[in-house]
Amino acid sequence: VSSLLARLSPRAANLIRRYAGRATLCDGEPIADCVAFPSSGMVSIHVPGAQVEVGAVGHEGCIICGKSFAASAVARTKTTVVVVPNGAFREAMAEDAEIARMAFFSYRWILRQAQQIAVCNTTHSAPQRFARWLLRASDAVASNNVEVTQDTVAEGLGIQRTTASIIIREMTYLGFIRHSRGRLVVRDREALKTATCNCYDALAQSNWPSEILKSGMPAKAVDRGAAPLWQELGDLVEWPK
Ligand SMILES: [Zn+2]
Repeated sequence: VSSLLARLSPRAANLIRRYAGRATLCDGEPIADCVAFPSSGMVSIHVPGAQVEVGAVGHEGCIICGKSFAASAVARTKTTVVVVPNGAFREAMAEDAEIARMAFFSYRWILRQAQQIAVCNTTHSAPQRFARWLLRASDAVASNNVEVTQDTVAEGLGIQRTTASIIIREMTYLGFIRHSRGRLVVRDREALKTATCNCYDALAQSNWPSEILKSGMPAKAVDRGAAPLWQELGDLVEWPK
């Protein structure tokens, strides 16, 4: 279930439902020209041509794969998504400001991850980054079981396969995780948190679009015609007078 869709008001949810379809994707299958809400599994975001992951979205958000989305989105693990074609989503945003706001929070979530991961990949150790990735993946799929191969994780983190397998062996020995063919399991979440950097906390639940929706949007932001996006953007940039 998409936590993000579940948090929408009935009106906004009905609008999305009117246009939505459902798709099941295999590991590595790309998503394009639509807005996708993962209901199980997760979607990994890359710069085209590169394997390094710059973000991941699960039940807590959505991916807007429009023309201006300068990245590629691929299913990571077997993933089920609710998909809305871009044209229909644009109409839904115009019709309901809550949907526009949800889209903005989701876009900001992806941007936030890309920023943090850029710092993480250049500043923190491979084991810290591995722990950060697995905790975040576990959150995205809402399960301790993450169905990925060691090679996929290594590529996503930009580390050697041999480095990844050493880290996995050590963390298994310490009782933090379990692993089997094509699967990593978080065994002791608190211990795994001690092995990661502060980047995991920086991307924790309070940043999730679904949590931001849950915490309630200002009434005026969901009123039609309140230009919520401009208000939100106004927080980020100072407009010329
Ligand atoms: Zn880090």
